[in-house]
Amino acid sequence: MALLADELDRYARQMGLPDWGKDGQERLRAASVFIAGAGGLGSAAALYVAAAGVGRITLCDPDTVELSNLNRQVLYSTSDVGREKTAAASERLASLNPATAIVPLRERIDTCSAPDLVAGHDIAIDCLDTLEARFILNRACMALDVPVIYAAVSGFTGQLSFIHPPATPCLKCFIPHKSTTEKPQVPGCTTGIMGSLQAAEAIKYLTGIGSTLAGRLLIVEGMEPRFDILEIEKDPDCPACGSQAE
Ligand SMILES: [Zn+2]
Repeated sequence: MALLADELDRYARQMGLPDWGKDGQERLRAASVFIAGAGGLGSAAALYVAAAGVGRITLCDPDTVELSNLNRQVLYSTSDVGREKTAAASERLASLNPATAIVPLRERIDTCSAPDLVAGHDIAIDCLDTLEARFILNRACMALDVPVIYAAVSGFTGQLSFIHPPATPCLKCFIPHKSTTEKPQVPGCTTGIMGSLQAAEAIKYLTGIGSTLAGRLLIVEGMEPRFDILEIEKDPDCPACGSQAE
């Protein structure tokens, strides 16, 4: 279906970008994005992919909104404290862009649930806050051949990569497994930067423009400030992807 008049108007300030055009906008409208975690990263990522015109967003988070979330989780207002995050977020995203279908999933990602939750999406955005859940998402997405945009934050620092094995390393190739329950200090500007960059990676991949951070790790040192990009390599002995042929 061709873009409607109000879509041409709504997206007028992005469709003129080189190679984006009506085709790119239609590709976004046909796309479905899985957002794992509706916290600080998930707030920024979800707002920007919805605003850009992605057709369907599944938002997966088991938690309720707490007052201490509000320094960085910009999907929510003070009046949302105590509500289910997915319910409050769905309302916010629907009011931003009514054309985007929002699928709220009040689920925790675990080994059993992950493949069914992620199946049927074009891309996943990893906005989780534990390594255990990230590795579970990593494995499920590899099995389903769904690319993942990984980001993590602490303080004013963040990191980001585009993961799509076997063309790229998987998460486990470059992140050592360290179990931690400690909640880092994180100002909202850091989750805003990194979640916005996740949205940018998703939009580029879905429209087919530009190049992604495949095989590279972006390190943001916000305090200095400094942005560095490191090449990352597959670990041939990786327990998650080591047997995958390129
Ligand atoms: Zn690996």
